[in-house]
Amino acid sequence: MLKNYSQLVERIARSSGLSIEDIERRIEAKRAKLSGLISKEGAAQVVASELGISFDKEKMKIAELLNGMKRVTVVGRIIEMFPVREYNKNGRQGKIGSFILADETGNIRTVLWDTNHIMLIEQGKIKNNDTVEITNASVRNEELHLTGFSDIKLSNEVLETVKTEKILREKKILDLRQGENVQIRAVIVQMFEPRFFTVCPACGKKMGGGGEIGECQEHGKVVGEKRALLSLVLDDGTETIRAVLFSEQIEKLISKEELENSDLFIKKREEILGKEMFFLGQVRKNRIYDNLEFFVADIKEVDIDKLIEELEKE
Ligand SMILES: [Zn+2]
Repeated sequence: MLKNYSQLVERIARSSGLSIEDIERRIEAKRAKLSGLISKEGAAQVVASELGISFDKEKMKIAELLNGMKRVTVVGRIIEMFPVREYNKNGRQGKIGSFILADETGNIRTVLWDTNHIMLIEQGKIKNNDTVEITNASVRNEELHLTGFSDIKLSNEVLETVKTEKILREKKILDLRQGENVQIRAVIVQMFEPRFFTVCPACGKKMGGGGEIGECQEHGKVVGEKRALLSLVLDDGTETIRAVLFSEQIEKLISKEELENSDLFIKKREEILGKEMFFLGQVRKNRIYDNLEFFVADIKEVDIDKLIEELEKE
């Protein structure tokens, strides 16, 4: 997906022969006229179509795709094929096919709704590792969707290396929705005392007691493994969210010694509060409090040098 709106502006400028500043001015004017009811990206697309630029027949790179785009053409390699699912919702039934499509710039979940397209998958005519050309697809919810008007066929184009790592979108805390896997960049504003518990070494399930030797319902008396849970409050300026970290993630923030010794913990906490980092994970609903929580799957340092480098490239 298009990481930034500036890539789109650049593209419109290139195709129209106008300057980037000129395009940006037109976009702002368009937004102002519509009282800010459309996003910058949406306004950019309106401006593009007014200038007679259509991305219709132009091949797009996956990194250039943007929500709301229609009739896009992309070539990519299928790097992960999911089983065809059947659905039955509100009296409507049908099948959904999906896979992850990748090119040199990125990857995107691609969803097929048309029975003829799905049949190609069911018959093995389109399979994992195939390079395909998709035309007339539309982009919504950060996914590429193919309807009956779209087309998918095998392509002879050779894609040397494609981006296979899961690309996590960066989002603002205010915009987080349940179930999303995202990256947020936020400051740690609170860090609570860790909680410890023991799990069965065989099945990993939580055991009662809290002592070293516990009882697993399935495996009986076992020497449990000690695990920790650490809660943080993250703030990115738009909103705050409670973040939950388990053992492997905690180690990226604080050593085992600091975690288990309350004096060291308090000292470390002073050091950590106010620190800005990248947090990758999933947004989940806390059923008890009925609010969203962030389950951290990875933590990364904010590498200012790298950020500047990326900005300069744009
Ligand atoms: Zn067990």
